Amino acid sequence: MIPYGKQDITQADIEAVIEVLSSDFLTQGPRVPAFETAVVNYVGAQHGVAVNSATSALHIACLALGLGPGDKLWTSPITFVASANCALYCGAEVDFVDIDKTTLNMCPDALEKKLEAAEKEGCLPKVVVPVHMAGSSCNMEAIRKLADKYGFYILEDASHAIGAKYKSKPVGSCEYSDITVFSFHPVKIITTAEGGLAVTNSSEFAERMRLFRSHGVSRDPALMDKESEGAWYYQQVDLGMNYRMTEMQAALGLSQLERLDQFVGYRNQLANKYHNDLANLAALLPICGKDVYSSYHLYILQLEKGKLSRRQIFDLLREKGIGVNVHYIPVHVQPFYKQKGFSEGDFPQAESYYSQAISIPLFHGMTHDQQNFVIETLFETVGRR
Ligand SMILES: *Cc1c(COP(=O)(O)O)cnc(C)c1O
Repeated sequence: MIPYGKQDITQADIEAVIEVLSSDFLTQGPRVPAFETAVVNYVGAQHGVAVNSATSALHIACLALGLGPGDKLWTSPITFVASANCALYCGAEVDFVDIDKTTLNMCPDALEKKLEAAEKEGCLPKVVVPVHMAGSSCNMEAIRKLADKYGFYILEDASHAIGAKYKSKPVGSCEYSDITVFSFHPVKIITTAEGGLAVTNSSEFAERMRLFRSHGVSRDPALMDKESEGAWYYQQVDLGMNYRMTEMQAALGLSQLERLDQFVGYRNQLANKYHNDLANLAALLPICGKDVYSSYHLYILQLEKGKLSRRQIFDLLREKGIGVNVHYIPVHVQPFYKQKGFSEGDFPQAESYYSQAISIPLFHGMTHDQQNFVIETLFETVGRR
C-alpha cells in the first residue's frame, strides 16, 4: 500500500538520536533549547517553546493567553480535534467558523458575520484558532484586521505548515498572530516522533508557556514571593503540566530541520505534477489562497458527485494499493461535540466538503513510479470530468 504520508529518516537522523543516548542528558539538556532556537531562527519569530506534542502546545498557548472558564475559543470545523479540545482543557467553550470550500480554511467572511452577531449578544471569542489546512496559510491579513476590530487573540494552528510561506514570510513569523503552533508527529512535514513547538514574539507569553510546560514551577527570583532559600530552591507559582520534549526528540528535530526546505520543495514538485496530470480528473484539485506557498502536508481532492460514492471510490483505491485517507471528519459532528449542542447542518460548507474529500499519497520518499501509479489508478477509478 502506498501510504498517504510517511516520515523520512536518514542515517544522520539515526546517529543524532543515538548520540544523545550516551550523553549526559536524556531530558532537560542542551538540545531542546538548541532546537527551539533553530526553529525560531527559521520562522523569524523571537521565542520558541518545545513540548511533547502540538496538542500540548495548543493547551499551554491557550493558558498563556489567559483562556479560562466563561471564555470562548473559535476554530475551524475542518481540523483535527485537538484544535478545539485545547479550549475545553482550560474550562472555556468552543465554537466553529465555517470554511471556504476552495481554500478549506476558515472563511474570513463567515468569521466577520459571526463576530458581528457575537458582538450584539456580548459573547465575542477571546481566542480564534485559524488552521492552515493541508499546509496552505489562511488569509491572515483579513483575520488580523478582524482581531484588531473585535479584540481577540490569534493562535495559529500550523501543525501542517512548517516550511510554508504567507506573503513571502515563513508561517510562524507571528506577524499576524500572537502564538503559532507546529506539530512534529511522523505524518507531518518534519518529525520528532511525538512533539510540538509554540513560537511567539511576546516574551510574556513565552515565559508563561515555559511555566505551564513544567508543572508551573520556577527558579526565577522575579516570580517568587520571597527570597530564595538556597541553590536547590524553586517555587510552584501556577498549575502546570509535564509537557517537556526529550533530548532524543530535539536531536531528531534538529537533524530533520536541516532538510525542511528540501522536504517542502519536493512536496511542491509532487503537488505540481498532480495539478498538471490530474487537471481532467472528475474532482476539484486543491487551490491555495493568494500569497500562499503551501508546505503540502496533504493533497486533497474533492470528488465530483458521480456514479460512485466517495465511500466506494475510497474502498476501490485502497484495494488497488493506494493508501488514501480523509481529512477531516468535521469536529462539530463528533459525538462528544454533538453532546455539547452541535448538530449536522451547523456548518454546511464544512460538511459538504467532508462528504466528497479524499487525501491522496504525498510524502518525501514517494517515487515518480509510485506517483504515476497513483495518477493512473485515479483516472481508472474516479474517471474524467
Ligand atoms: C496533528 C495535528 C494536531 C495535533 O498534533 P500532535 O502533535 O499529534 O498533538 C493538531 N492540529 C492539527 C491541525 C493537526 O493536524
